[in-house]
Amino acid sequence: MIVGHGLAGTILAHHLHQENIEFQIWDSSSTHFTSSNAAGGIFNPVTGRKLEPTWLANEIFTYLFPFYQTMEKKLNASFFFPMPLFRPFANVEMADWLNARRADIDNEFLDWKSDGVWVNQAGWVDVPLLLSSSQLFFRDLGVFFEKEFVAGQADSANFSHIIFCEGFHGMTNPLWSCLNFLPAKGEILKIKTVQADPFFILNKNGFLLPIGQDLFKVGATYRWDEFGPEPTASANEELKDKLAQFKVNDYIETGKLVGIRPATQDRRPFVGMHPEKPVGIFNGFGSKGVSLIPYFANEFVSELQGKKMVHPDASIRRFNQLFSI
Ligand SMILES: Cc1cc2nc3c(=O)[nH]c(=O)nc-3n(C[C@H](O)[C@H](O)[C@H](O)COP(=O)(O)OP(=O)(O)OC[C@H]3O[C@@H](n4cnc5c(N)ncnc54)[C@H](O)[C@@H]3O)c2cc1C
Repeated sequence: MIVGHGLAGTILAHHLHQENIEFQIWDSSSTHFTSSNAAGGIFNPVTGRKLEPTWLANEIFTYLFPFYQTMEKKLNASFFFPMPLFRPFANVEMADWLNARRADIDNEFLDWKSDGVWVNQAGWVDVPLLLSSSQLFFRDLGVFFEKEFVAGQADSANFSHIIFCEGFHGMTNPLWSCLNFLPAKGEILKIKTVQADPFFILNKNGFLLPIGQDLFKVGATYRWDEFGPEPTASANEELKDKLAQFKVNDYIETGKLVGIRPATQDRRPFVGMHPEKPVGIFNGFGSKGVSLIPYFANEFVSELQGKKMVHPDASIRRFNQLFSI
């Protein structure tokens, strides 16, 4: 059984399906809201002020492109949009500082210009469309159930394994109480404007993401003190400030998105089977679910089949000593 049909449960299910492993998906978005629907959906192989490649960028981005392209064909939907991403230098000092270290900093993902860098192999995934297409696909197969998993439920005893893909709700599941989640609430504004460029993602202390027909997503905020599904006035202000920095002042607001990133204290995912019980976890993908989940779904299914082990920094084997306490 897979518990949860957010991005993690969905992509894990497709990897099981690919390997002809039987499963059911139980998802209860009416009682446990799905954060994946709020995602900007951006994948970006470069991070931080020093423009470093993200963790395992080569392996993860090599897997990502063919994975989503194959999914589009399988689900007969268009949700994968490779798109250049531009990171302007914050100011003259930053431009000088980076240019002076360019030989050390440069990597295969960067294309340097006088006013900033272009990042290659970036883009975005329309996550809500991927999830809704996937739900139809699994409903047709008869394996998707709108159902809440509650510990001790009699019909859950029919499954050889239960794999929890609960997003930030996983932090209240007693099975995983020894794992340190560090969830972060995030909000995004959806706007319509003709003042922004529709051909690339602008990334400067936030992002401005073109999603077609003069529509854009502006994001994203972070807070660690409150995890409700409602938008907040403070996030709205922050997002409007970002728009002003992007020099967009003539726009219509078309929507607000709210979600909780299932981040972890050591900033690495939680992947693997419990050391003593037939239950597993596929969670902790933080703010990078779009790029990390496909690669680690493949690793997890390979480990379940006894073919190879999940990367030690992502595997919950790194907490094995805590499970026995
Ligand atoms: C504002 C915002 C912007 C973001 N932008 C990006 C981005 O640009 N790029 C990127 O890569 N990532 C981004 N993220 C992060 C991304 O959304 C997450 O990494 C990813 O969506 C996590 O997916 P998940 O499946 O683990 O969790 P979720 O999407 O929360 O899914 C969990 C599912 O489990 C179900 N569930 C939970 N408990 C139970 C239960 N007991 N019984 C039944 N069902 C249950 C829920 O109903 C839900 O459907 C963003 C997140 C936010 C909030």
